[in-house]
Amino acid sequence: MNLRFDPGSIERFKTEISAIPGYPAGEALPILDMVFESGAIFRLPALLTLAGADPARPLLVVMDDTMMRRAGEELKPLILSLLRQAGWSPEPLVLAPDATGQVHTDFAQIGRVKKRLQPNLAVLSVGSGAVTDIAKHACYVFQQEHGVAPLPFVVYQTANSVSAYTSNMAPTFVDGVKRTLASRYPDVLVCDLETLRDAPYEMTVAGVGDLLAAFGSYADWWLACHLGIDPSYTEFAQTLMGPLDEIFLERAEAIRSRSLDGMADLAKLIALGGLAMSLSHATAPLSGYEHVISHVLDLMAERAHRPLAQHGTQVALATLLTTSAYRVFVNRFEPARVVVAQCFPTESVMKARIETAFQALDPSGQVAAECWSDYRIKLEAWHARRNRFEAVLNDWPQVKNTLEALTRPPELARRILESVESPLHFDQLIPPPTMADVRFAFSHAPLIRRRLTLGDLPLFLGWEPEAWWTQVSGESAR
Ligand SMILES: [Zn+2]
Repeated sequence: MNLRFDPGSIERFKTEISAIPGYPAGEALPILDMVFESGAIFRLPALLTLAGADPARPLLVVMDDTMMRRAGEELKPLILSLLRQAGWSPEPLVLAPDATGQVHTDFAQIGRVKKRLQPNLAVLSVGSGAVTDIAKHACYVFQQEHGVAPLPFVVYQTANSVSAYTSNMAPTFVDGVKRTLASRYPDVLVCDLETLRDAPYEMTVAGVGDLLAAFGSYADWWLACHLGIDPSYTEFAQTLMGPLDEIFLERAEAIRSRSLDGMADLAKLIALGGLAMSLSHATAPLSGYEHVISHVLDLMAERAHRPLAQHGTQVALATLLTTSAYRVFVNRFEPARVVVAQCFPTESVMKARIETAFQALDPSGQVAAECWSDYRIKLEAWHARRNRFEAVLNDWPQVKNTLEALTRPPELARRILESVESPLHFDQLIPPPTMADVRFAFSHAPLIRRRLTLGDLPLFLGWEPEAWWTQVSGESAR
């Protein structure tokens, strides 16, 4: 596969991407290297040194207690012994799972890592999304609190599962609701292809799924910009990522067969995904309506003390819904029938709606309060930009064309998922949400965040929720 922008050639990559329209002017990407290689594990000592770590100083190795294998050997003991043989003194910090049996990114875990940090230490994270985010954010909070230089931080990616590894943001549970916090980049990203090949295949499939979010999220982001709610939109992310539909159709077999080439390609795409968001200073490029739906499903699981389903696959299944929602919306929406004055619900109406919506999930009202505090920002902006909504009504044929050009059909997403043998239905997630849960998430996703997506419009337009859900789920199941 020839990627237009190859993160595996760091200097050329940095030069080339800085010329893409929308690249943040004057901002230098601080990542020193991204390695996508067979046997990269054996270069770890050299890559730590490149990151500014020193074998004579402490090295904190952050991991969880999941047993991982690489080419028949246990991965974590192998890494520790390779480092010791090379003269390093790695200090392992094993993060214990919470009551759900999983390690989640929250301030309890971040605090555990932060407690172990000191100014002359370096950090190596060995894990997938949550471990990486916890280690990354602990380093970030530490340097902020102590006003010290960033600690050398190397990410050893153990699965092609999410686009966390190259991002300078950390999705973190705050009062039970997932929020994206500003964080830091790694100094070096290490993708050892044998490690990625031997990761549980459902994680690899999830990595594909997380990127398929783009099939709806670019349109959500453009829409939010066009309505005057989120001015951050540029085409940088789309240009950087390239034609994901064509790429995945071409590379599905290499991924499905776990070839090292396929693993390298997916790891690079995932790295581009993290960078697309970080350099756009927003998660919006790859996180739209489908991610908000996924966040509500996570929120429901979290409240019920259930483990979270595989993130990227949950997102992919939500993408089948949201890309169907786009199709239903553009076919059904008739600007001439819109009564503008009725599309601007008051604060008290929406606050009450949020409180009612989340009452059963959290009788204490804490979740509703957290959702309202973020939602009200969107509602205020929606009111303030009423003229932009009116412009969309007048200009609908063009808006419709743009939305159709920015989205990809659900059939294409499903075909890609099929070709990598991904689950295609929510009841195949582990643990599976009920269809009532999925429906709740689809309908209430707009209420939890300030981010405007397609999901907000039926609410503002006063569309009957039952009919909207029936149409979208019917389209998606077609
Ligand atoms: Zn995601």
